[in-house]
Amino acid sequence: MTTVQQPTAPPGVGLDALPLRDDLRGREPYGAPQLDVRVRLNTNENSHDVPEAVAVAVVEALAGEVRHLNRYPDRELTALRAALAGYLGHDLHPAQLWAANGSNEVLQQLLQAFGGPGRTALGFTPSYSMHPIIATGTGSRWVDGYRAGTADGFDLGAASAADQVRAVDPDVVFLCSPNNPTGTALGLDVVEAVLAASDRALVVVDEAYAEFARPGTPSALTLLPGRPRLVVTRTMSKAFAFAGVRLGYLAADPSVCDALRLVRLPYHLSSLTQAAALAALRHADLLLSTVDAVIAQRDRLVAELPALGGGGRVHAVPSDANFVLFGGLADAPATWRALLAHDVLVRDVGLAGHLRVTAGTAEETTAFLTALDAVLSEETA
Ligand code: PMP
Repeated sequence: MTTVQQPTAPPGVGLDALPLRDDLRGREPYGAPQLDVRVRLNTNENSHDVPEAVAVAVVEALAGEVRHLNRYPDRELTALRAALAGYLGHDLHPAQLWAANGSNEVLQQLLQAFGGPGRTALGFTPSYSMHPIIATGTGSRWVDGYRAGTADGFDLGAASAADQVRAVDPDVVFLCSPNNPTGTALGLDVVEAVLAASDRALVVVDEAYAEFARPGTPSALTLLPGRPRLVVTRTMSKAFAFAGVRLGYLAADPSVCDALRLVRLPYHLSSLTQAAALAALRHADLLLSTVDAVIAQRDRLVAELPALGGGGRVHAVPSDANFVLFGGLADAPATWRALLAHDVLVRDVGLAGHLRVTAGTAEETTAFLTALDAVLSEETA
């Protein structure tokens, strides 16, 4: 076998030598490590492969598109938006649906249209790290709100959220339910209180992990009728095990989609992406069949984490998502490195004493729990 030697990359001149926007200087890019590790539980992907029947359907759908790639795709995503409306239910009309390359791009388009220079976006930290990054990338001012209420301080109460909205008077508010990285879903009273606390802010409820929520957890989709400033974003990256396709979407008043038409790039969603997503949605039941298995591993993590290392040191935050935040670590970055040495990659979300682990397959969960038990025992030895 011949190996091709990669030429060494030339050194860049450095950002200081470039006419970069002043507000981007000193900022850090999104940086979840993509390492070649045996057990990868750091980006909340679905560890289960796409089922064979769905893979075949997707390949056939893509093959059907290839000869027509000389043409631009359907700019209006007509068939896809109808399929997404059908999947979500709640009497949604396709005109209320919009899609883009991952929910990250949906969020970016929302901030391009409703945020931007001179405008403010508010989120409640700790939450999804991309909300502030996308906000500042679009020139919006970001305000870090806070969460408080439980022993861990991670719950967000309706009164606290509404007070913060009144104090900041933002143009865009981000709620995340279930919240990444803490895991728990919000009560709809929080969404309603935030909407009522401002007569002008766009309220975005990021429901990337909705399909994993514990029974009885309501979706903000139920609040959409009569609330034109409410937007609910979803993704096929998690429950649908389709992260590589990059398909995120939103449901809102049809006028929100009109606003996004003003900022999206023409033909932003390729014919191949649309075809793959449509084929997958035709097999939604099969694709979503891994959700219960993932939930079982999540609940196992919450149950078994407190018993590790002799018991009593680690605690797990209850979760409605496909990941678990756990705390009680003396030195979270050191534990992260020690787990990596055991070939297990989890996420250091920058919260003192805490790490986040994705619920993967049963084998991955076992590998993680075994490794963490060993690491904690080594620490106390
Ligand atoms: N929202 C939340 C809360 C997330 O955790 C993620 C991915 N980690 C996203 C949105 C973006 O997902 P995607 O762009 O793959 O749809």
